[in-house]
Amino acid sequence: MTPAPTLHAASATFPPGPHAPLLPMAVPAGPRPALSFEFFPPRTEALDAQLWACIARLAPLAPRFVSVTYGAGGSTQARTLAVIRRLLAETGLTPAVHLTCVGASRGEIDDLARQYWDLGVRHIVALRGDMPGGEPYMPHPQGYAYAADLVEGLRRIGKFDISVAAYPEVHPAAVSAEADLDNLKRKLDAGADRAITQYFFDADTYLRFLDRTASAGITAPIVPGILPVSNYAQAVKFSAACGATVPAWLGRLFEGLDDDAETRRTIGSYVAAQQVRALQAAGVDEFHFYTLNRPEMVYATAHILGVRPVARA
Ligand SMILES: Cc1cc2nc3c(=O)[nH]c(=O)nc-3n(C[C@H](O)[C@H](O)[C@H](O)COP(=O)(O)OP(=O)(O)OC[C@H]3O[C@@H](n4cnc5c(N)ncnc54)[C@H](O)[C@@H]3O)c2cc1C
Repeated sequence: MTPAPTLHAASATFPPGPHAPLLPMAVPAGPRPALSFEFFPPRTEALDAQLWACIARLAPLAPRFVSVTYGAGGSTQARTLAVIRRLLAETGLTPAVHLTCVGASRGEIDDLARQYWDLGVRHIVALRGDMPGGEPYMPHPQGYAYAADLVEGLRRIGKFDISVAAYPEVHPAAVSAEADLDNLKRKLDAGADRAITQYFFDADTYLRFLDRTASAGITAPIVPGILPVSNYAQAVKFSAACGATVPAWLGRLFEGLDDDAETRRTIGSYVAAQQVRALQAAGVDEFHFYTLNRPEMVYATAHILGVRPVARA
C-alpha cells in the first residue's frame, strides 16, 4: 500500500511542525471518540429555529453531553434555562449548563444551581465569566470571585459533574503561564472533574499544553475545544479578545470567498478535520465542539473522526 503523503512539504501555506497524514488516514481510526457539543441560547425566533435544527442534526451522534452557554453578566440566564428545560423535556441528551460568577451574589448563584439540580441537571461548566462590554473584571462584592471559588461553592450544593475552562495559550488576564496553570490546578483541586480548553488551531499548542499540565501533576482529563471556522474575519475578532492565535495560513485559505459560504464551510470542515485527526493520531479520544449553533462542519468533522449516528432504541 502506498503510504499517505504528509502535510509537512515545504509549503508556505502551512506552518512548520509535525502534521497528520493527509486524509484518508493510512491507519484506520481507533475506538469511537467521546464528543460533546456546545450551543448558545438564541436571541430571536429565527435563531431559535436554527438552534433546534442544529440539535436535531447532531443528537444522533450521541454526544456525552451538550452544554448551553451563559451570556456576559448573566445576560442570557432566562434563555439558558429555557434551552435546558427543552433539552430535558424533548430530547434524551444529557445537558450541561454554563454558570459564571459575574454580576450575582453567591446566594443567587447557589439558588440557580439548586434550581438546575431540581430540574435534573447534573453537569455544570463553572466559569468566572467576563464583564459585559469588555470592562476589566471586577468580582461581585458578595459573589464568587473566581471559577475556583465557584467550583468550591457548587461542590457544597450537590454532587455535580463539573467542568472548568483551560487555556492552552494562557488566559489573557493571567500574570504568567505558570500562574494560569496554578489556577487550573486550583479549580481541579476544588473538585472539578475535567477541563475543556479554549479553542486553538495548532494541534501542537494543545499537545504542549498537555505536557505542561502533566508536569504540574494534573491528571484530570483536559478535553480539547474545537472551533470549526467558516468566517475568518469573525474568528480573528473573537480570538483577539480570548487570546487564541489565528494562524495567517487560515486567512489565506479563505481568501476570495467572502460571498461563498458553502465553500467556506467545506474548507472549515477540512481544517477542523485535519486538526482533530492530528489530535486523534496523538491519542486524544475526547472532543468538545463549539458549534455556534451550526451543525454542518461539526457533523462532517465528527464523521471523519469515525463517529456515526446511533439508532435510538
Ligand atoms: C469551555 C469554555 C466555556 C466558556 N463558556 C462561557 C460562558 O458560557 N459564558 C461566559 O461568559 N464565558 C464563557 N467562557 C469564557 C470565560 O468566562 C472567560 O475566558 C473568562 O475570562 C475566564 O473564565 P475562567 O472560568 O477561565 O476564569 P478563572 O479560572 O477564574 O480565571 C480567570 C483569570 O483569573 C486569574 N485568576 C484566577 N484566580 C485568581 C486569583 N485568586 N487572583 C488573581 N487572578 C486569578 C486566572 O489565572 C485567569 O487569568 C468560556 C470559556 C471556555 C474555555
